[in-house]
Amino acid sequence: METVDLNAHEEHLSLAEQWVARNYDPLPVVIASAEGAWVMDVSGRRYLDALAGYSALNFGHLHPTLVAAAEQQLARLTLTSRAFHSDQLAPFCRDLAELAGKDLVLPMNTGAEAVETAIKTARRWGYLVKGVPDGRARIVVMRGNFHGRTTTIISFSDDPVAHDHYGPYTPGFDLVPYGDIGAIEAAITDDTVAVLLEPIQGEGGVVLPPPGFLRQVRDLTSRKGILMLADEIQSGLGRTGTTFACDIEDVVPDIYILGKALGGGIVPVSAIVADADVLGVITPGSHGSTFGGNPLAAAVGRAVVGLLATGEYQERAARLGKVLEDGLESLVGHGVERVRVRGLWAGVDMDPSVASGREVCERLLGEGVLAKDTHGSTIRLAPPLVVEEPEVELLVDTLGRVLR
Ligand code: PLP
Repeated sequence: METVDLNAHEEHLSLAEQWVARNYDPLPVVIASAEGAWVMDVSGRRYLDALAGYSALNFGHLHPTLVAAAEQQLARLTLTSRAFHSDQLAPFCRDLAELAGKDLVLPMNTGAEAVETAIKTARRWGYLVKGVPDGRARIVVMRGNFHGRTTTIISFSDDPVAHDHYGPYTPGFDLVPYGDIGAIEAAITDDTVAVLLEPIQGEGGVVLPPPGFLRQVRDLTSRKGILMLADEIQSGLGRTGTTFACDIEDVVPDIYILGKALGGGIVPVSAIVADADVLGVITPGSHGSTFGGNPLAAAVGRAVVGLLATGEYQERAARLGKVLEDGLESLVGHGVERVRVRGLWAGVDMDPSVASGREVCERLLGEGVLAKDTHGSTIRLAPPLVVEEPEVELLVDTLGRVLR
């Protein structure tokens, strides 16, 4: 049994207060260990993890298959740089490309790097294939987007907290309302090379586009001869009940942008996946990363793809997502204003007169459930896909209780 040390929490919180930069505002819980859908804090208290590392932990904490792949690789080879081949990279890329039905994989580390890679690829494709005059390429992006934190990416964020006071900003992006196909069409010019979107806006609060929107974007981009870039970093890899959120509308983008769960919650692994006529524009020396595609990342990523290839996790997300949706719907009018659910992924808008999102998350924490607010009165629920039905029920019951 774990030693219960009630002082440990306070000590850690004051250490954090003194030494950790304030770029986050975490809930006051200090996690020390975890397994599956559960974590334990430094005083030995257990919590159901209903955030799952913002979907980086789709397969739960310490999934035995993923830990075994990491441990095996740790003992053999962890880094070669891309100056040499490793025996892990090509099999990983083959398996991921096959999962996505594409020709090529370009591996990176973080999600933001994968988005940057997609932007660079689209611009280069625009110049070298579409024939846009050099320096003029434009990309249509959505209001309410979240694609990461680099200078270029926050240049087209309309969230002042992420955007402000980091200029000068990178030009070349046209913001349009999410879900408005007419606005996208109106924004496209001869210099447009791509439309970049999240098939479901995660950080925005699990915002679902109108039905048929992804299909409309696919048809429009094909008709205009430009690329569709789908940022599936948070929506992809089983979360929505399908391998990719684009699958919900049978849409295949030109570039899948992947991250988070691709590293199994163990190491940062991201990638873009595309056909050779698009990704072929990247030539030796024109893009890269010291750690991208390293043998440890490739071994874990390949094990993740192996889990997804069984279809088990997509099926669980679809089935248990229904339980989550029915449960959350029953809370509408009881402290909840609105819910949006796809698979095991929910945006829950609180009635602001009952509590703010932060207050609800603090109360959930007190009841042994970890969740995080986003944008004021919305909380996002994204439990690991390994949760069991009673745990989903526990999540809904606890939310109902803290709202009463
Ligand atoms: N794109 C989307 C849709 C995301 O949700 C995130 C992170 O939340 C990112 C990109 C950035 O990923 P990372 O934090 O790994 O850079």
